[in-house]
Amino acid sequence: MKKYFLTFFSFTLILFIVSSCSNNSKKIKQKTTTPKEKTFALVIHGGAGTIKKEYLSEAQEKAYRKKLEEALNAGYTVLEEGGSSITAVQKAINVMENSPLFNAGKGAVFNSIGKQEMDASIMDGKTLNSGAVAGVQHIKNPINAAILVKDSTRHVMLSGKGAEDFAKQYHLAMEDAKYFYTEKRYQQLLKMQKRDSIQLDHSTSMINTLIDDHKLGTVGCVALDKNGNIAAGTSTGGMTNKKYGRIGDSPIIGAGTYANNISCGISATGTGEFFIRTLAAHEVSALMMYKGLSLKEALKQVIHVEIDSLGGDGGLIGLDKDGHIAWDFNTAGMYRGYKTSAGDQKIEIYNQ
Ligand code: ASP
Repeated sequence: MKKYFLTFFSFTLILFIVSSCSNNSKKIKQKTTTPKEKTFALVIHGGAGTIKKEYLSEAQEKAYRKKLEEALNAGYTVLEEGGSSITAVQKAINVMENSPLFNAGKGAVFNSIGKQEMDASIMDGKTLNSGAVAGVQHIKNPINAAILVKDSTRHVMLSGKGAEDFAKQYHLAMEDAKYFYTEKRYQQLLKMQKRDSIQLDHSTSMINTLIDDHKLGTVGCVALDKNGNIAAGTSTGGMTNKKYGRIGDSPIIGAGTYANNISCGISATGTGEFFIRTLAAHEVSALMMYKGLSLKEALKQVIHVEIDSLGGDGGLIGLDKDGHIAWDFNTAGMYRGYKTSAGDQKIEIYNQ
């Protein structure tokens, strides 16, 4: 009898211990499944260059500000609704690609043989998965093709006809040359060819004759979503009168675009060759990770020391893992803006 009682007692004790353990683990689980809502934010650029107040009419400035605001809101809405930073970057960039105001998608600049060859890339800071397209001529939104390369291939970059065939296979919107054409960009090419030079579509030396044309540029976006994931993307037509087949920094991961959840996300604009040679976007992240620099300090080092010392020009936008936003450039201006879940919003054009 005593034996039976002892067995019954030990069995009850074990049951009690097991059930209290599982209650504890439920409590622990409950704690971890209700995280505090994180901050979210995005920052965009629409190109850097010789953008001075005296070169923009009031109406032009208004149009740029309006489009930048539209792009910010498109990305912000995605983040606010709990969407991913990748989708936010895509939506913000789509707004600028679809506007002839910027050198990406519709309104891209012409190369030396009068064609528009566009480049774009995207990077996911959580997985480091990346996608890019280069030298595409008919994809309406090159950033969408870059995302598709990231998600649906084992590769990082597709170029030219291969990239276009791939985009068609996935039914991405395609357009003919007429859609991308703008008279202003074409005139810009003709003027540039007269000088027989290759330059940024908005660089200083074009200023005298291209007063009206020098202020448009590449577009980019970096976003941080509610899950703490950073994404960065860049889309461009490149540089006016570039050699056909030339590929700039924008589709090169580490040069024009970089994102890593443990450091920051970056998108670049400027004379691409300098951003490739310095691996500018990744360099910012490396300076933060290995030298302990803040985002702001790292941007300053890359633009005002590394790019400057090679004679390059342009700018960078960035956002770190805690949602801090910064930008820097060594040109007269850069179309730029940000919006955060804390209610901060800013749109700026000139160097002030
Ligand atoms: N970085 C681009 C390129 O070199 C041009 C630009 O940002 O305006 O293709």
